[in-house]
Amino acid sequence: MEHTRVLVIGSGPAGLTAAIYSARAQLKPIVIEGEPSSTTDQPGGQLMLTTEIENFPGFPEGLDGPQLMANMRAQAERFGADLRVGKVTRLDVAERPFRAWLSDDVDASISADAVILATGAQSLMLNVPGEDRLLSHGVSTCATCDGFFFRGQDIAVIGGGDSAIEEATFLTRFATSVTIVHRRDALRASKIMQQRAFDNPKIRFAWNTRVLEVLGEEKVTGLRVADSLSGEERTLPVTGVFIAIGHIPNTRLVAGTAELDENGYVRTGPGSYTNIDGLFAAGDVQDHVYRQAITAAGSGCTAAIDAERWLEARGS
Ligand code: NAP
Repeated sequence: MEHTRVLVIGSGPAGLTAAIYSARAQLKPIVIEGEPSSTTDQPGGQLMLTTEIENFPGFPEGLDGPQLMANMRAQAERFGADLRVGKVTRLDVAERPFRAWLSDDVDASISADAVILATGAQSLMLNVPGEDRLLSHGVSTCATCDGFFFRGQDIAVIGGGDSAIEEATFLTRFATSVTIVHRRDALRASKIMQQRAFDNPKIRFAWNTRVLEVLGEEKVTGLRVADSLSGEERTLPVTGVFIAIGHIPNTRLVAGTAELDENGYVRTGPGSYTNIDGLFAAGDVQDHVYRQAITAAGSGCTAAIDAERWLEARGS
């Protein structure tokens, strides 16, 4: 069976930064990049869905998400990381060396002394017509990333939880108006966040409202919505739509083994250590708070250094 000292699972900013650092530490990491399975699940992670990134330090003019990921990939390969397209279907961390299967084929497995789990998280989507097509063309899942592009526009935020309220409040810095579109008549968000939104003159509410379709050809021109009670349809004239109905961390590979926090994310600390000796976690799979490319990259660096020191301490 093929053996590696460090196996990185995932190729978003966390996985590729872990790969760059592990490769430069002469650990010759193997990186399983993932493979496209849906718009929101693909190698390179969520940045592959982002058009322009203006807040990644070092790029004063900004750059495209896919370009940033291509740069990180090239940088990891330059130092000897072995990047492979494929999906880990099963991970055994019950005993060391760990073992990862790349398909249902029993022979297609790799053993590893240390594993860095950087499988990310996925934004929950509405699954309505127009949403996929207009993603990054007016539809966004990240206000911190994209809010700046919506200066002076009327936009909508979908959801009624803390994320929706937080994003809506943040977006009022740029937008002329922000309409929170919620399927019920009461918010799930904490009372203090709710009050902040109620007090904000730029925030409006569309209660009991379901989204049926995101309208627009090249960019968003509106939302077709329906009243949840009467079924009556109308069009909300907005040019931006932020989907904030929650995220799911990609923890399937460690279900029942790694300890998760109360939100279902892998619990880490100190640093990137998990409860399993030799298993480290980085990026959005262990972070439900910051979710930024730069914080994911930072935690990938942490994981590579933690793994390197852990291997060194064991003499492997
Ligand atoms: P959440 O609490 O699960 O809220 C999701 C919201 O989206 C709910 O209002 C839900 O409606 C709505 N929703 C779900 N699926 C939908 C669909 N298919 N169509 C329309 N609406 C849909 O998720 P979250 O807001 O991302 O928060 C996740 C966790 O992080 C929570 O524990 C939250 O407290 C925490 N968080 C905290 C902060 C903070 O304290 N600063 C900020 C962000 C998040 P219903 O209400 O009808 O179910």
